[in-house]
Amino acid sequence: MALIIGIESTAHTFGVGVVKDGEIIANERDMYTTEEGGIIPVDSANHHRELAPLIYARALVAAGINERDVDAISFSQGPGLPPCLLAGRDFARDLAIRLEKPLVPVNHCVAHLEVGRITGATDPVLLYCSGANTQVIAYAAGKYRVFGETLDVGVGNFIDNFARYAGLGFPGGPKIEKEAVGGEYIELPYSVKGMDIALSGILTNLRQKLEKKVGKNGEDYTLKNLSYSLQETVFAMLIETAERALAHVGKTELLLGGGVACNSRLQEMTKVMCSERPRKFEVDGEVKNIGETKFFCPPRPLLVDNGAMIAYLGEIMFNAEFELKKNGHICWKKDKIEKIDIMPRQRTDQVDVTWKK
Ligand code: AMP
Ligand code: MG
Repeated sequence: MALIIGIESTAHTFGVGVVKDGEIIANERDMYTTEEGGIIPVDSANHHRELAPLIYARALVAAGINERDVDAISFSQGPGLPPCLLAGRDFARDLAIRLEKPLVPVNHCVAHLEVGRITGATDPVLLYCSGANTQVIAYAAGKYRVFGETLDVGVGNFIDNFARYAGLGFPGGPKIEKEAVGGEYIELPYSVKGMDIALSGILTNLRQKLEKKVGKNGEDYTLKNLSYSLQETVFAMLIETAERALAHVGKTELLLGGGVACNSRLQEMTKVMCSERPRKFEVDGEVKNIGETKFFCPPRPLLVDNGAMIAYLGEIMFNAEFELKKNGHICWKKDKIEKIDIMPRQRTDQVDVTWKK
């Protein structure tokens, strides 16, 4: 039981969340956007540094708490864009030193998964579809393991890239979703390798089609048709890998996470896959009944990058370590807090999941 402030800053969003005893009581955020072009990391970091005090103040008011009453500060240590991570680290570190509270470094991807508990998911496979990250993650043998992922770009960045090419600004995902309504299907390359996917070939193909305007057989390569086909093809690829992971690890819960999961077509397709998973199957002559796979999707403010999920995982880690009275993840002393570094390339399976043992 604890009161935790969480700071998120891995890419385009600066967020401050407050969690008290497992309940989210504030989730304030602001996103760096552009009219055209993608994220410029240094500009995004400047956005974070400028807005941090305001977002922080808003979170305290929304939560109705006094900052002196918090038990710890948590922050996204990685993975992410170094200048952006540094902006969040600096803010969290200065806060912890000023308030004389411990600092809890949190893995951003694991936070997306753990916050799924709010929806009732207990041991899910996470289909994590964000800007830079696209991974199928599940807990197995003491760690969060990446069962599948993109071999090149993240699905959000892929969509944003195509949107930018088509003259739409950042973020492109919501614009492509609107554009896709009423589109017709045009065949695109489909690239699944086991539980991994590859997207850059599809991006090239989409760009070429947009340039050409008309296919050999008179197909109409409009932005509408291409947006529709992009969603149908790439979401099917994502769902295929998630389903394979479900079968492989034998889990019966699927959780969506990441900004792309705001897309209602992705949610719909995932729901259909879950409902169609076999209820009965045979292994070595024995009939097993696994029931329908349960589908979980957090509300939008918890799907996109946000401080509440960082505070949420921060509290889980803080409570676990507090109970165990060991000095693992958490920085309790000022000299350790001062030295805490970011981990821009931290992998999900590098995280020592002490709180689950
Ligand atoms: P995240 O990095 O998890 O905060 O997610 C940001 C990414 O989500 C960006 O690449 C957005 O384009 C994408 N995104 C947001 N809303 C949607 C949507 N409705 N459909 C597809 N992608 C989306
Ligand atoms: Mg994210």
